[in-house]
Amino acid sequence: MPDVAVVGSGPNGLAAAVVMARAGLKVHVYEAAEEIGGGTRTLQVIEEDHWHDVCSAVHPMALASPFFRAFELAARIDLVLPKVQFGSPLDRGRVALAYRSLDRTADELGRDGHAYRRLMAPLVRRLGGILETTSDQLLRIPAHPISAAILGLRTLEQGSPLWNLRFRGDRGPALVSGVAAHAVSRLPSPAAAGAGLLLNTLAHVDGWPIPVGGSSAIATAMVKDIEAHGGVIQAGYAVSSLAELEPARAVLLDVAPPALSRIAGNRLPASYRRALEAFRFGNGACKVDFILSGPVPWAGPGLADAGTVHVGGTRAEMAQAENDVSAGRHPERPYVLVSQPSPFDPSRAPSGRHILWSYCHVPAGSTVDMGETVIAQLERFAPGFQDVLLKYKVTTATELAAYNENYVGGDFSAGLLDVRGLLQRPVVSPVPWRTPARGVYLCSSSTPPGPGVTGMPGFHAAKYALKDIFGLDVPALGI
Ligand SMILES: Cc1cc2nc3c(=O)[nH]c(=O)nc-3n(C[C@H](O)[C@H](O)[C@H](O)COP(=O)(O)OP(=O)(O)OC[C@H]3O[C@@H](n4cnc5c(N)ncnc54)[C@H](O)[C@@H]3O)c2cc1C
Repeated sequence: MPDVAVVGSGPNGLAAAVVMARAGLKVHVYEAAEEIGGGTRTLQVIEEDHWHDVCSAVHPMALASPFFRAFELAARIDLVLPKVQFGSPLDRGRVALAYRSLDRTADELGRDGHAYRRLMAPLVRRLGGILETTSDQLLRIPAHPISAAILGLRTLEQGSPLWNLRFRGDRGPALVSGVAAHAVSRLPSPAAAGAGLLLNTLAHVDGWPIPVGGSSAIATAMVKDIEAHGGVIQAGYAVSSLAELEPARAVLLDVAPPALSRIAGNRLPASYRRALEAFRFGNGACKVDFILSGPVPWAGPGLADAGTVHVGGTRAEMAQAENDVSAGRHPERPYVLVSQPSPFDPSRAPSGRHILWSYCHVPAGSTVDMGETVIAQLERFAPGFQDVLLKYKVTTATELAAYNENYVGGDFSAGLLDVRGLLQRPVVSPVPWRTPARGVYLCSSSTPPGPGVTGMPGFHAAKYALKDIFGLDVPALGI
């Protein structure tokens, strides 16, 4: 009989299982899909020998997350750092590029360089304190109040209509908003600005690495560790009730809040179940994966060296696109997030071929195929893109939701990213990972600190389960 059952093998379920197995407990992980890994799967989705990340592709938190640091992920997998961390193309072949070096980034931004340096330098200097604030739940007194205040003030500025005040050109704003728009939220808004500034800062410290072999390398590293510590992982087992699990003293669920309500049923009080069922989800994504006969012919210099490209034009255009989505419309010129792994990791496609990963935001539950719209945006900034395009596959928001039950309506953040959605995840509580049912914990990204491959929601849930149920501390997690 296991001590611990984990439902779901996304990065958070696996992080929780690593911590519990390392503590000497018998762990059993149940995964609905045939493949382990949740949002960290790499599959041949179009043709053999072409390896696409189905969900996450780029991993700023692989080096920065306190869980992955303790787990020494960087020593367990190969990560490549592109020369350019991310970039934004603008019309007429102009670009804004972010290097690891803040100085180089600012120097190349021309008349926005000084303003960008002044925005980012204090955050870069205080990344440690900022990570302490943002890697846990926000409703607590931060251990590094000055770092939290510096991030908070910049978040208020970049998340408000004052966001252009410090800039004189369009390249600095495009660089900053390209990252903020990851948040699937209105622009400007405090939630998007805060998340964006954190990711932006990480680019200038450890960078935005890409795992060699794809994101599944992260899941594989955790699976190996769980199995080395006696854990059992079972794929193809969808859990619809706690009664279907072998009895265990603690159950950690890497699921969305409505699924927690269904699975735990009347072990949870009615008021808590109502809160889970009323949990607010955000808008969705339409994914477009490509096979190319050559690299993307970007018009702008330097973009070929970028791991990530934010294709959306100026800040105003990106805001228009994101605000269209917030208003329930499909943008004509969407903000497209592009990752181009194969120039940096040749294992992803046969020689002479490239794969390209992209998605754009769409209203929740959308069934619209955005393939041609995304291609038009790429062609705008990379004329001749269609000449290298061999094949592509579209996954609509509805199909994304069917692929992973946690992505309700295609919302891969597993919960709306606004200020309320960051504080009420899934409910306002000093320990949001703990449910009212003794021994039952929620460990998905519907708990703090929220989405992204960080392992932190899983880590926090495991930390409280160890303490509450087994009277144990978090064990050493390193190699
Ligand atoms: C298109 C896309 C692009 C993304 N890009 C990035 C990126 O570049 N970088 C980044 O850091 N993040 C990215 N993300 C977000 C990231 O993938 C998620 O935030 C992260 O995977 C959440 O981890 P999780 O463990 O909470 O849940 P998930 O990874 O969603 O895993 C949940 C798992 O639980 C399983 N499950 C659910 N219900 C049950 C059940 N009842 N029984 C059994 N199993 C169940 C699911 O099948 C799934 O495997 C992206 C996501 C998507 C979809």
